[in-house]
Amino acid sequence: MANEKRAMPNILVTGTPGVGKSTLCQQLQERTGFEWLDVGNIAKEFECFDGFDEVYGCPILDEERVLDEMEDKMAEGGKIVDYHSCDFFPERWFDIVFVLRTDNTVLYDRLVQRGYSGKKLEDNIQCEIFQTILDEALGSYKEDIVHALPSNSADDMENNVEKILQWLEHWRNS
Ligand code: ADP
Repeated sequence: MANEKRAMPNILVTGTPGVGKSTLCQQLQERTGFEWLDVGNIAKEFECFDGFDEVYGCPILDEERVLDEMEDKMAEGGKIVDYHSCDFFPERWFDIVFVLRTDNTVLYDRLVQRGYSGKKLEDNIQCEIFQTILDEALGSYKEDIVHALPSNSADDMENNVEKILQWLEHWRNS
């Protein structure tokens, strides 16, 4: 379904935990003035949880409730949404989708640094190896708005910010 053009676009930044979504979104927020919506934080703020996952040691997201909390904000446009999954958002919300990708060894070190171990660590590394989130994005949004971006180094991060700013400039002029 084609989006009617908003005054400002909405951007989705997704990818396996640890690939650099928050770091990129923070920079984008500073450079664009767009509002960064961290779905995990919204869920915490509005208590959008439905039980507890004992295996991963984290609360289970109540997707419907978090979508309800986000709907009015998304309608305003100018939002950057950050989450490690992407198939439950309405397709109409986003004008562009970026999937950050990180090499396994680099991601492994970042997740160990974050305190992940055992099954949680292994599953997240497998998720990246099998490009699960990229496939999820390609299955949920039009392929031409889904872009995979490498996120291994500070240079990659800077290139990604520049690429997204260029896209935004192009969007504004189109
Ligand atoms: P996510 O939000 O995807 O879970 P974070 O933004 O929290 O990931 O990043 C995880 C860790 O990796 C942080 O310590 C961050 O500084 C580092 N990091 C993220 N992206 C990069 C990058 N492109 N190059 C180097 N380090 C990065």
